[in-house]
Amino acid sequence: MIALFLALQVGVASAAAPIPDFIIIRDGASTVSVPVTITGGQASVRADALMRAMKGTLITGTNLHYTLALPRVRLDLIDGIPFAKRDTLTIPLSRAPQVRGGQLYLPFQFVSEVIPRFGGGYSYDMAQAELRTLGPPTQPTSQIAKSTPPPASSTAVARAPAVVPESVRTPAPQMRRPAATKPQSRKLVVIDAGHGGPDNGMRGPIGTPAWFVEKDVTLSVAQKLAASLRARGIDVLMTRTTDTLIALSDRGRIANANHGDVFVSIHCNAPAYNNAAGARERGFETYFLAEAKTEDERRVQDMENESVKFETGANAPKGDPLSFIITDMAQNEHLRESSDLAETIQTGLIDVHPGPNRGVQQANFAVLRGSYMPAVLIEIGFGSNQSEATYLSDQANQSAIARNIAGSVIAYLAHYDSRVGGQR
Ligand SMILES: [Zn+2]
Repeated sequence: MIALFLALQVGVASAAAPIPDFIIIRDGASTVSVPVTITGGQASVRADALMRAMKGTLITGTNLHYTLALPRVRLDLIDGIPFAKRDTLTIPLSRAPQVRGGQLYLPFQFVSEVIPRFGGGYSYDMAQAELRTLGPPTQPTSQIAKSTPPPASSTAVARAPAVVPESVRTPAPQMRRPAATKPQSRKLVVIDAGHGGPDNGMRGPIGTPAWFVEKDVTLSVAQKLAASLRARGIDVLMTRTTDTLIALSDRGRIANANHGDVFVSIHCNAPAYNNAAGARERGFETYFLAEAKTEDERRVQDMENESVKFETGANAPKGDPLSFIITDMAQNEHLRESSDLAETIQTGLIDVHPGPNRGVQQANFAVLRGSYMPAVLIEIGFGSNQSEATYLSDQANQSAIARNIAGSVIAYLAHYDSRVGGQR
């Protein structure tokens, strides 16, 4: 309930603060100024400069994660995601923090609203453009060492809701089954050809002079999959159709912005060890997004306990901060759907792939994390194994794999629809 209340406060208090050229950080008698930069009409503050001025530390984690270690609290952020986290509390932001030129920029609202509410003892004076510490001055040095790794709580940020797509900003009962919001419409499958441009993915030998290059094979299979789905009345959106590099976080965002029903990412595998045993590795496997078991159980438990009060948000207006909470609920639903989709695809491939069948796997892939729909990543085989690389490079084999995956996706969508119709 506290989380909900605080989240609403931010939404209500979003009256635009005037944008100064710089802000003053006042801690007792000491003041430090931090410039406000305007890019594309949007005001931002550099996170490192702000942390220095506030006697905190900016910690760069992995996978676009950042932690602002303030003297009293830690706020976790993800580049490109418009939410912050303080422990288990999710805080919506007016805009996503963004890395530009190697530096993390925070929306100005972070200084004027988020830190005063969630930063552990600050107020913001709009007229003076001053962020002040409340109460006695803080200790001159923070106890948090620069080398401190991201806290355990930062892993929870990996499960932070992705960019809230328009499609889920609708009443909750429909949101629990997003397909129900458009039962008669055509389905949209988002196909993601792994890697591209300067990112070749894995490379393996087919025999001189040819090399197996993952980005080329994934694109070829993705295009055949798209053609097969389109031929069967399914709309398709490809994250890339040429040899270009699309950021992992953007692939999910593309899928979300276009309200995809399913997200399928195509990849080729390589062994963990570059030795003779590694070179013999072969087979196909399908991944869906999931956290480590124990953490997942904790999250599900938390979510179940929390969910009843969030249902009151069913009629929340579009863009209301509540929508992210509902989004989080729906995302959990997609976990099971993603697992079902992975199982359907993996089982289907047994018919065409020489194998072995390496089964359905779970992992926390960045590319799947940002996509707000049932999402899987298929490793169609080991490009590092000479015979499998040869098999995967063959156009007819690629077509067989693509048609098979298309059939599984269509079967999954039909199954999904019948369950929606039958049970809800
Ligand atoms: Zn790959």
